Parts: sequence; structure tokens; C-alpha cells
Amino acid sequence: MQTVTTDLIILGGGIAGLWLLNRARQQGFDAILLESHSLGGGQSVRSQGIIHGGTKYALNGVLSQASNSIANMPSRWRDCLEGHGELDLSQAQVLSDAHYMWSMASLGSKMTTFLASKALKGRVGQVPAEQRPPAFQHPDFRGSLYKLNEIVLDVPSVIEALARPNIHSIYKVAPSEIQLDMQHGEIQAVQLKSMRIEAQRYITTAGEGSEELLQQLEVQQPQMQRRPLHMVMVRHRSDLPTFAHCISSGSKPVVTITTHPTLNGDQVWYLGGDLAETGVERSAEEQIQAAQQLLTKLLPWVILKDACWGSFHINRAEPKQSSLTRPDSAFAQSVGNCIISWPTKLALAPDLADQVLDMLKAQRITPRFTADTTVLGALPKPGVAEPVWESLLC
Ligand code: FAD
Repeated sequence: MQTVTTDLIILGGGIAGLWLLNRARQQGFDAILLESHSLGGGQSVRSQGIIHGGTKYALNGVLSQASNSIANMPSRWRDCLEGHGELDLSQAQVLSDAHYMWSMASLGSKMTTFLASKALKGRVGQVPAEQRPPAFQHPDFRGSLYKLNEIVLDVPSVIEALARPNIHSIYKVAPSEIQLDMQHGEIQAVQLKSMRIEAQRYITTAGEGSEELLQQLEVQQPQMQRRPLHMVMVRHRSDLPTFAHCISSGSKPVVTITTHPTLNGDQVWYLGGDLAETGVERSAEEQIQAAQQLLTKLLPWVILKDACWGSFHINRAEPKQSSLTRPDSAFAQSVGNCIISWPTKLALAPDLADQVLDMLKAQRITPRFTADTTVLGALPKPGVAEPVWESLLC
């Protein structure tokens, strides 16, 4: 059995693992990424692709820690998309340059004052009627509409842009083949069927798959939590690009709509927000019916041409919090020679990479090895995951 030695092994090729791989290699580390299925195929490609700046976490009129840590993410991503950021995402596709927030009726004066406040300056702006997106241009629309400084991305193209420059360091390994060889609470190597790979540090970015890795590591802390969602998709032939949270009196959006292209040129409205959180116990039929009723109530003038509906369940995987609340920022914790991490948001992948690289620096881990790529070359390459509507919808 051959042994390969490298600086860093990253386990999991979603947004977190790929962002980190790029940043670590930029810093001269010999890093390899092992992916068990397809790149981005856990949560990343199924996300709504919104690069939050935190405004949706301020719906109760307070800027929480979550909204503060995430506030500078849109500008970091924009720099990358424009080709002058920490990574080159100039080949990734932006679906919308802004995300919107609308309310059915006019907002109360407290909320209006908050949205116009200094704290949110440059992050939120009210949209004049003539500049509204098409779904909100109907004369019956009576609510308020705000534009948020948040981009919406085509996530498969982001994954592709992050994977391509480092594809020589990315390998596909079946989950049953990834065994951690443990001794005295430290990982000695990742043991595959055909080879052993040793590293200075092992970093888990496996999303929900990190739970099984935590069991192999036999660590009690951190633990993982799942926050389940029941997402709805509607494929149609109307040209109605809509990217918006509908807000009401609660602290969470009633529904969040994003619009995605399909391979045959249709559009998909992808529906999340409170609809997806509260619909977890509903059957697919019940959830689709709930979504249809909600859209009829919120946007009664919108008739989607040739609509075809579907839904699916997915979990957000995150570090465990008390009472299943949302974690406030990206999470990375060192355990022996392993770093366990979850970005908790697609938008926070840059923050997660910062945290991991800072930990390596603090632990005086510097570039030392060059892995034998001829041995590693025997392993196959993973592809980029397809959006769920390409296989689950009519
Ligand atoms: P994943 O994308 O799940 O990637 C983990 C990868 O690890 C997978 O490819 C998996 O196959 C692989 N893997 C698993 N086990 C192993 C193993 N043992 N060895 C090797 N590889 C393994 N965030 C936002 O910022 N904006 C949004 O609009 C947004 N919308 C969302 C909508 C939905 C429906 C969901 C579920 C989440 C959303 N999120 C959003 C959150 C965001 O998608 C996640 O926080 C983020 O994608 C997690 O990335 P990740 O790389 O940690 O995990």
C-alpha cells in the first residue's frame, strides 16, 4: 500500500471545502480535497444562492451578531466576481445583482425608520415604482419594496469556477472507503482502499457528512445539528425573474423567492423562508398546496405559464446550538490535528476560510510537503452537482 504525504486534507467539496482549497493553495500549502459524491451536491447547489449581507436577520429592527459578521460578505464576493478579489469568480454567473424585500401592506413607521437608519446605510434602499422588478409592477401592488445590497448567484457556476483551477488536487472517494486511522485522539492518515494519505492537518467541510466523521474522530464536542427544510420549486415559462423575501410582522421572511434557469430555457421559482421551515411535516401535496395558496395571497396577479410544481426535503447542517437556533457566523474548531467546520451559510465561506487559515497560522503549520500526484492520479474526479429541479421536476 502506497503512502502519500501532503500538508492539508480537506474532506468535503461543497462551497466551504472548495473556497478553503483555493485559499490554502494560494498560501503555498499542498492541499488536497476528497469528495464523496459530487461537488456542491450537499446543500451548496440546493441553496438559494443569496449572498446575504445580514438584512434579513434584522427584521426585528435590531442588528444582531449574525447581521454584523455577515455584513461585509457581499463586497468580498463582488470583488471575486469582478475578478479582483481574493479568488477569481469572474466565470461564475450572477442571477441577480440585488435581492429585494417586500411587504404586503405599507411597513409600520418603526420598521421604516429602522430600514432608513444609519446602521443600514448602503445596504437597503426603497425602490421607486418605475424601477420595480416585473412581478411587483402590477397596479394592485400596494406594499413597500426595498432593494438589498445582496447578489444572487448561480451556485453550480460558482462551484465550477472554484473547482476548475485546482481540479488536479480534487479527488472522488466513495464514503465507505474514507476511513480515518486514529491513534491517541489524533488522525494518523486517511486510509483509502488503494492508498494511505497523511497530512499535517485534516479539515472537515463535509456538511451533513461531518456527523459520521465526528463519530470516527470520537469527539464529544463540537456536535452537529440539522435544521430541516421542505423546499418548493415551480418550473414555468413566464419571464418573471423574482428575487425577494416577503416580510410580515414576524422576524423571518414569510417566503423567499429566487429564480433559476433550467437547461431547457424555462425558469424555476425556488421557494424557501418560513414556508420551507414550517412545512417540514407536510406531505409533498400539502406543501405544494400551501405554497400555491401563499403565492395567490401575496402576488394574486401573477399567473405562471405551464407551471409544474415539486418539493423536496433537505437539512441545513451546522454546529449544535441550544434550542436549534441559527448559528451566528461561520464555525471552525480545532480538535487534535483536525479542524471541524461548517460555514453555516454559503455567503460565509470566505469567513470560514479566514478562520481556518488563522488557526493554521496560530498552530505554526506552514507549507512543507508536495504530494505524489502520480499515486493520487489513480483516483477518479468528481463532477459538479446538478440543480435538483433538473431531475425532480417534470
Ligand atoms: P455542502 O454543500 O453540504 O458540502 C459538503 C460536501 O461534502 C458534499 O459535497 C458531500 O457530498 C461531501 N461529503 C459528505 N461526507 C463526506 C465525507 N465523509 N468525505 C468527503 N466528502 C464528504 N446560504 C446562503 O448564504 N444563502 C442562501 O441563499 C442559502 N440558501 C439555502 C437554501 C437551502 C435549501 C439550504 C439547505 C441551505 C441554504 N443556505 C444558504 C446554506 C448553505 O447552502 C450552506 O451553509 C452551505 O452550502 C454549506 O456548505 P458546505 O460546503 O459546508 O456543505
